[in-house]
Amino acid sequence: MKDTVVSQLNPQPYHSPSRLAVGQPPIGIDIGGTKINAAVVRHNPATGEDELISLLNSPTPTDSETFLNTLVDMIQKLNAEHSVSAVGISTAGVVDSIHGRILGSTGNMPALKNIANLKELLEAKTGLPVHVENDANAAAYGEWRCGAAKGSQNMFAITLGTGVGMGIVFNGQMYRGSHFYAGEGGHIAIAHKRERKCTCGRWDCWEAFASGTGLQITAEQTLEAAPETAQQEFKAKYCENGKVTTYAVIAAWKDNNHIGQQIIDDWHNHIAVGLSSLINVMDPDMIVVGGGLAQFVDFELLLERTRERSMSDAFQLVPAALGNHAGIVGAAYLALESQPEPLA
Ligand SMILES: [Zn+2]
Repeated sequence: MKDTVVSQLNPQPYHSPSRLAVGQPPIGIDIGGTKINAAVVRHNPATGEDELISLLNSPTPTDSETFLNTLVDMIQKLNAEHSVSAVGISTAGVVDSIHGRILGSTGNMPALKNIANLKELLEAKTGLPVHVENDANAAAYGEWRCGAAKGSQNMFAITLGTGVGMGIVFNGQMYRGSHFYAGEGGHIAIAHKRERKCTCGRWDCWEAFASGTGLQITAEQTLEAAPETAQQEFKAKYCENGKVTTYAVIAAWKDNNHIGQQIIDDWHNHIAVGLSSLINVMDPDMIVVGGGLAQFVDFELLLERTRERSMSDAFQLVPAALGNHAGIVGAAYLALESQPEPLA
């Protein structure tokens, strides 16, 4: 008897062949608090690899007009050289990526406060299609497309810096939620007794513990609780002008100082608590950890602490591979893929 197929359960081809191989390449632009980076992402037929070329950068202007002109100049320069197909922009803030509008706070970028309709303005000035994406989303997509999470079906990436950013690729697609607020993992609460105020105005967010700022608060509290002699020794040896910075903590930790080790151990626990909660909701196959502080993460220790609290242990925990270029790469791919596919 012949079996009747009720539903096809073949997995989706999560990685379709690179669209860069056909047609014109896109530009990716990463708008940071201090610097704007722009580059072309293209396919190199000689090597068979996709690559990032012609990197331009500029300080981030604080007034809106100079800011827009800087972006337009960069786009026009790259377009004149490479005849591009689309422009992807990675920026802080909650972004309605369908309409290219910035909805929420834009962090420390005053120029963006008066430019909600970035897509519209740039399209009018350059004549090119523009896609705008939240920076943590773009970085996660870049890592998924051609970085540390290549081949993953369900993944999330976190960036450990001044804050904690997060981007999710679910079932092979960027996951933005119903109102573009998905991936605000930095603001899940990991305590309930109003221990630390977060930059978002709420209490005890993961970010208030796992970020660089969080690490510093942990350091100050740990040091205060330590015996007087140990405190003095720590400050004399590692702190400049008695200030407890992240650098001081890292130096102490590398030096096998007892207090330094305790602080870094607590920091790994703080990261693990948030990660395992997210893992228990999402059941990802891969988690990418990037950002300026990722270089200080002991991945073996973090994996151990995360597994202790996770229902599944079938996930990989890996360092980001694209560094500062993840946002450019992700934004460029998203811009390209938001365009209709050219005829082969
Ligand atoms: Zn928060």
